[in-house]
Amino acid sequence: MIHSNYSLKSFNTFGINVDCKFFAEAKNEDAVRLILEEKDFKTNDHLILGGGSNLLFTKDFDGFVLKNNIHGVELISETDDHVFVRVGAGEVWHNFVLAAIKNNWFGIENLSLIPGSVGASPMQNIGAYGVEIKEVFYELEAIHIPTGEIHYFESSDCDFGYRESVFKNKHKGEYVISRVTYKLNKTPKFNVGYGAVESELEKMQVKELSAKAVSDAIVAIRSSKLPNPAEIGNSGSFFKNPVVSNSVFEAIKTKYPNAVGYPVGEEATKLAAGWLIDQAGWKGYTEGNFGVHKNQALVLVNYGGAAGADIYNLSERILQSVFEKFGVQLEREVNIY
Ligand code: FAD
Ligand code: NAP
Repeated sequence: MIHSNYSLKSFNTFGINVDCKFFAEAKNEDAVRLILEEKDFKTNDHLILGGGSNLLFTKDFDGFVLKNNIHGVELISETDDHVFVRVGAGEVWHNFVLAAIKNNWFGIENLSLIPGSVGASPMQNIGAYGVEIKEVFYELEAIHIPTGEIHYFESSDCDFGYRESVFKNKHKGEYVISRVTYKLNKTPKFNVGYGAVESELEKMQVKELSAKAVSDAIVAIRSSKLPNPAEIGNSGSFFKNPVVSNSVFEAIKTKYPNAVGYPVGEEATKLAAGWLIDQAGWKGYTEGNFGVHKNQALVLVNYGGAAGADIYNLSERILQSVFEKFGVQLEREVNIY
């Protein structure tokens, strides 16, 4: 069914109250193809929607929104060391993480509690606590919007980078990702040396490491630090962590000895964007019904009823002030519509 002038308020975690011109949901590939054939789809702009947790609507969407609801988790093959699991793009990401943990499929426990859908996981190569989806990605199936054909993408076709892939750049808007196959490990290789994971495991008095314990620790850290979108509208980190040359980092460090940076290869350093924004004075900043979260300066928030354009303008002011203070150009991670 195609809805006209449909509210997107409950379909974006920022909770921005905008409408789209047309809206439909698709439960399988045939349903997607039928929608792609519709005149209203062909003659309007389109947006493929997952959980709406990585976007900001700055105005009504004057086009067709297609919500991907393709479900299913299938174990399609296995070797001595790996399982290959094909997952519908409309599955909730965290539910898939929990299913993997239950089945002793390892490799995504560090990506617990990331909101959104499986289909969006390759879009920006989701990452957290030292793990990125590209490490367990095997292939994806995507419906080519102009032709309705299924195209297969292996990892090398996706050009995964830091919160990047071809689907955010070269192929932006060209595909409906329908299924993703992950290659998960049958034996664990836990990665707990990132952020506060180790200390949280100690606090939980975990004696024997397991995927469930790592996941529980990460869920506990995330729940204590990040605003829950069900309570305060947000789309997670609004900006990416900028990567600068080591000499730029050294210059910043000379002026600000507490500057936070992590090496990227031999010649570059990743700066913590949250630290830069905090130092520029924005952490906890509030203007009416929107602002910067009090515990995490990377997260912009809608306290209820804010306009997307106001949040976008705030992001612009933050970009400018960080540039003026540190000479570093931040980039938005959130997709703007
Ligand atoms: P949407 O917001 O619905 O879509 C995002 C983009 O992908 C849009 O451009 C959309 O058109 C496109 N898209 C979505 N599905 C498809 C599809 N099937 N086919 C084609 N295009 C599609 N991200 C991280 O990487 N790491 C984190 O730790 C993290 N933590 C977060 C914490 C919070 C509290 C929040 C609110 C967000 C966080 N995010 C994080 C960002 C976000 O959850 C992820 O980027 C997630 O993968 C987005 O999924 P989604 O289904 O909600 O995508
Ligand atoms: P944090 O642990 O306070 O760390 C702050 C920043 O330092 C993070 O951005 C992280 O970079 C970096 N960092 C920390 N330890 C590192 C290490 N050992 N090596 C390299 N870089 C390190 O961060 P947080 O805000 O609580 O987030 C925890 C994790 O969840 C991070 O990985 C973060 O990316 C992820 N997260 C992402 C979103 C989103 O919307 N994208 C939202 C919330 C949390 P990285 O960000 O590059 O990992």
